[in-house]
Order: sequence, then C-alpha cells, then structure tokens
Amino acid sequence: MKKSLCILFGLLTTIQGFAQQNCYWQQKVDYSIQADVDDKNARYDGKMKLVYTNNSPDVLDKVYFHLYYNAFQPGSAMDMRLRNIEDPDSRMVERDSDGKTISRISKLGKDDIGYQKINFIKQNGKNLTYKISGTVMEVKLAEKLQPGKSTTFDLDWKAQVPETIRRGGKNSREGVALTMTQWYPKMANYDDEGWHLDEYIGREFYAPFGNFDVKINIEKDFVIGSSGKLQNPNEVKGYVENPNIKTKNGKVNWHFKAENIHDFAWAADKNYVVSKQKVPSGPEVYFVHLDKPEINQNWTEAQPITVQFFEFMSENFGQYPWETYSIVQGGDGGMEYGTVTMVTGGRSMNSLVGVIFHEVAHSWYQQLFGINETVHEWMDEGFTSYAEQLAHLKLSGKTIEPNSNPEAYDAYFQLAKAGIEEPMSLMADYYNYNYAYGIEAYVKGQIYLIQLGYIIGDENLKTTFKEFYKEWKFKHPTPNDFKRTAEKISGLNLKWYQNLFVNTVRTIDYSIETVKKDEIKLKNLSNFPMPIDLLVEYTDGSKELFYIPNLELRGEKPTENIEIYKDVKRTVLDPWAWTAPEYSVKISKEVKSAVIDPTKRLADIDFSNNTYKK
Ligand SMILES: [Zn+2]
Repeated sequence: MKKSLCILFGLLTTIQGFAQQNCYWQQKVDYSIQADVDDKNARYDGKMKLVYTNNSPDVLDKVYFHLYYNAFQPGSAMDMRLRNIEDPDSRMVERDSDGKTISRISKLGKDDIGYQKINFIKQNGKNLTYKISGTVMEVKLAEKLQPGKSTTFDLDWKAQVPETIRRGGKNSREGVALTMTQWYPKMANYDDEGWHLDEYIGREFYAPFGNFDVKINIEKDFVIGSSGKLQNPNEVKGYVENPNIKTKNGKVNWHFKAENIHDFAWAADKNYVVSKQKVPSGPEVYFVHLDKPEINQNWTEAQPITVQFFEFMSENFGQYPWETYSIVQGGDGGMEYGTVTMVTGGRSMNSLVGVIFHEVAHSWYQQLFGINETVHEWMDEGFTSYAEQLAHLKLSGKTIEPNSNPEAYDAYFQLAKAGIEEPMSLMADYYNYNYAYGIEAYVKGQIYLIQLGYIIGDENLKTTFKEFYKEWKFKHPTPNDFKRTAEKISGLNLKWYQNLFVNTVRTIDYSIETVKKDEIKLKNLSNFPMPIDLLVEYTDGSKELFYIPNLELRGEKPTENIEIYKDVKRTVLDPWAWTAPEYSVKISKEVKSAVIDPTKRLADIDFSNNTYKK
C-alpha cells in the first residue's frame, strides 16, 4: 500500500521512460525540547524547536499535534468512553457504594487534571494560528510546506501532569512521582492514508520517526529514567559513583538524546536507584526502580534473563539497533516507548519477567517497525505476544511445539463463541468491549502468526521475520507489508488468509466426515478455506501425511521439520477449492486413525470432529 507509484514531480515527470520506482515515503521529526519542572505542583514549562520534514509528495498547508494530556479532564472523550463502555479498564474507574463504576477522570479537580496549554507556536519565526479540539491541535501554516522541504516550529507551552489514570501521570499507585508519557505536543503522523488524528480515548499511538534532544530541568534530588542516552551522567544523580552534580537554583538539567524513535518518555522520582547490564553485542540496559527491599530483589534477579531476552529477540527478529534501553518503574502496568518502558514494579518474579519480555519485544513490533497501533493493534500486540511466548518457552528450557500457545487458541475460541467478536481490522478504540479488544489484539494477533506458520511452513515464517526486518525497520509497515514479505518468502498467495482472518469474524471448522476402505471424506463446515494436513495411521502401523493445499494458495508449503511428522511419508494432493464443501482423499490401506492438523496450529473451532479412530 505504501509502495504505490508516487507522484513524480518537477523535472522527473519529463524524463523519458517514466519508471516505476519504489515510492515509499515517511515524514520526519527532529525535536529539541526543554522542560522546566515544578515537581511540587507537577507542572512544567515546555519549549520545543521542531524541524519537520515533508517527505510526502503533497504540499501541506496545515499540520496537527496531539495534546494527549487534555484527555485527563472531566467531559473529555476519554472520560465519556469510561462512563459509557460496559467493561471499562479497571485502572481508570472506581466503584461507588452501590458498586456502580465511576470514571476517575470525572472526579479530577483543577490541580489534578492534565493539560498542555499552548503559549505560542511559530513557523520559521512567524506566529501561527491554531485550533484545539479535544486532544488534537490543528495548526495553519504561514508558509506552505513543499514536498521534500523542512520547516521549523517553535512551541512554548505550560503543562500540568494529571493524576496517573492511564499510562503516565503523577503519584502512581506505587508512589512514583512523575511518569512522563505522552507529555509533549507530539506531531501527528501524515502518511499515504492522510493525517492520523485519533482522539486519545485510551488506545495506542502512531507518530513519525525522528531524533530527540531533550533537557529536563528538575529539583536536584530526582533521578530520571528515560528514552535515549543520558549525555551528562557525571552531572546528575544515580548513574555514576560520586557524580559532580551541577545545580542551578537547586535544580539539575538532565540531557538525553535519542535517535530515530517515534515516542520519547521519561519518569522521575527521588527514590529511584539505577543499575545497568550490557547485552553482549547489544544495548546497555538500565533498570530504574524505587529503592525498596522487595522491589530491589526482583529487579536485580530479573536482570540476567532480560539480557538473554535481548539476545533471543535479536537472533530471531533482527538486531536491536539502539545503544540503550531502560526499564523504568512507573505508570500503571506496562507500556512501551522509544528505547524505554514504564512498568509497575511490585510484582512476582514471573510477572515482572513477563512484563519486561512483553514491553521489550515491543521495541521490535511497535518502535522499530512503527506500526499504526490505532488501527493495526493486533499486529503490534499480537506479534509482540508471539515473540514473548517463544522467548518464555526457550529461556525456561521448555520445548517449543509448532503451536507455541494452545491457551491463546482456547481464549480466542471462547470469544468467537461468545458472539461479540469484531473484525480485528477495526480501529483499536472502537471495540464494543474491552474484553474483545484484548483477545483480538493480543491473542488472535498471535494466532495469526502461529497459523501462518501452519500455512507457509515454520521455516518460511522464521525467514519472513528476518526479511521483514531488513525491509521495514525504522519504517511504518502495515499488515499487508508483512503479508507481502511472507508471500515473497514462501511463494504462496495469502490474500484470502489476510482478508478472512483479519477483516472478518469467520471461524474455521473442518471435519472428517466418513472413513471407508478406499476413501476419507473431509468436509469444510465453515466459510473459511484453509490448507489441510491430514495425518493417517494405517492398521499395518505405517503413517501417511496428506497435504491438501487450498486453491487460493497457488502452491504448496514445503515439508516441515516437525517431530510427529518425522519419517512419515508425505503425499501432496490436488488443491481444494473453497466453493466445494467436500473433499475426497483416496486411500489403499485400512485406516486405524486419522487427524486433521495434529499440530493444532489450524484455528479450528471444533477439534472434536477433526479426528477419526477405528
Ligand atoms: Zn503490548
């Protein structure tokens, strides 16, 4: 989608032999931010210089910024959602004496709401007019921004950090003073689909890549955990032994730089301690958490396996490209940002390691591949959950079965049977139930990959991840881009799978209808075609694996290196057209047992009719 023919402008159009060229483009942002923090009142004054580069083929006369803090005000769209959805996020609501849920945002007083109040915004020194509605600010440009050109914005604003209600804020439940996420006016993304102007309702983010130079002036006793690399560790508390702390009016100016990320976050507390691990041929990983005995122990014990996790991810999904990563105690659960995550700290070891794995894996499927989470949430959460699960099995010494997560299948089937599933191509904020969103993004998105392994073969899937990394790191791939990579690697056509699994709620159900002495009859009871692996054991003890590709595949998956298929004869049969409900497999020996997909990677909603026993 992103690689369609672009408009060749100017001189190029006159060149003879107008060539089809790879016209993928993406916008670029380079932020320099200075925040002067008033920690007593949880406010800060912000100044920003932003160089915005228009790599699109379009002339822009407007730009848009997200002012996410404005969501944390009574009456906001986020507040309305909390008041009206049937199953609100439990972190964001309270219960009154009658057990009725109350939006926590609805109760915020003037000192506890969030805001980002713009003093001015200038373009190349000229004052601009702007209009704020909800969490989005529209800015009219004084000078139109031509394709291929950059322009500089100066912003000056005052912000109040809201109570920690979702992801960031002041006074987290665990007592972290400031979790600073979605804290600066953030340029909205413009791509070949246009401007992405999603109101902050609760779900996640999409923004252009760029460089960040961030200075945070804060009371001298604070320690900061942050995106990017600390530029002055010798002048601040926490990072080196005996620093030469440089204060001015009782404050210290922390300086961080981050390259090629799309979301910068930080957190600050006076009781933070910092430790560090180096991943061999990987980043320096900082662990920043409150200095409490029960926290210290788990956060120390979790360090070696975190190092192994980075190695596992780099080996299987592409090398981690940045110099640093920070795991910071803060926020309300676990949330990923550029080279940093905010996680709550008071957890069991298992839970802590689980959340670290998950959030670190987002450095691939969210940060490095800047997926638009507002609409392809299943891609960043599902792919992340898939990687997390593989690593969990591998690093705890367990065997990785072809279906790495059978529990995920059970959860998905339960949702599908409940009748409230919606297509996972739906925009993330718009699901009728948070429950459905959760299963579809984290679970069905994961099954998309496990089942893709079934369709194209596990080896092809592994190669697809590596090729996808080469082609799409530091870009904004869509699900179709991943599908295209899988198609190129496998030589198989996946249009039907992508469409039916992602854009519909159709479920899969195949059955073994009858077994006779010369024929096994299979039936597609669903309206979802899939290739079929049929493992047959004959009464003489021999086995045969029949492979029936569906017609849409236009090819065959290669023989897979799977334990249960070892030394089993594989017979490739003619393709099965989706328009035919039945398929006949000719056999010449008596059947003892038969099973459709014994690996259970096929998301067949009723496995009971997948087997036959004499
Ligand atoms: Zn996640």
